Amino acid sequence: MSTTDSTFDGPAPAFSICVYCGSKPGNSPEFAQIAVQVGTWIGAHGGQLVYGGGRNGLMGLVAEATLAAGGTVVGIIPTALVEKEWAHHGCTELHVVDTMHERKRLMAEKADAFLALPGGIGTFEELFEVWTWRQLGYHDKPVGILNSLGYYDTLMAFIGQVVKEGFMADWQTGLVRVGTAPEVLLQALVEAAGFAPAAKTELL
Ligand code: AMP
Repeated sequence: MSTTDSTFDGPAPAFSICVYCGSKPGNSPEFAQIAVQVGTWIGAHGGQLVYGGGRNGLMGLVAEATLAAGGTVVGIIPTALVEKEWAHHGCTELHVVDTMHERKRLMAEKADAFLALPGGIGTFEELFEVWTWRQLGYHDKPVGILNSLGYYDTLMAFIGQVVKEGFMADWQTGLVRVGTAPEVLLQALVEAAGFAPAAKTELL
């Protein structure tokens, strides 16, 4: 069972993008700047952020920047995390679900594309799941990794090692777009999903 404690009946968003990112802000202030850039781009292009519904760390920053730039935010969070008071109640829609599995299914269903920002183990798990689902053909939505500040350099090197050792092929690594500039990567993902977003405000 899932419940929604707020709903939105405004105009449909230009596109929906699911962002996975840290529930912590990280040690460098540049991570916060990147999260704000991502949310601002989504909002300024009339988009909708789909995310884990948290108010902490980079998650909260992306959500707040999206709203501040005029976008909509769909948060999807399990009851257990709401009980810990981790939910962001400023979301345009906040879906409270029973399990993490239901949360990830709904996030994937509601998004046109996926983007991983810097984060920790929760972010990795979500990224690898949509990447795996893509390689198995469960969906054909674009998946991106924002490698700002070289955060994912060592992960990319490790994936190269996985290919070298024969556990992955190049086509599988090619299913994920890796970029360092938030606006360029966001534009590419949204276009690959079949949308042509144009900035609707002067915020960028
Ligand atoms: P992590 O990268 O380990 O901080 O985990 C962040 C990811 O896991 C997010 O994309 C969320 O979907 C989920 N998550 C982890 N911690 C929280 C939290 N405190 N509130 C909401 N979602 C969380």
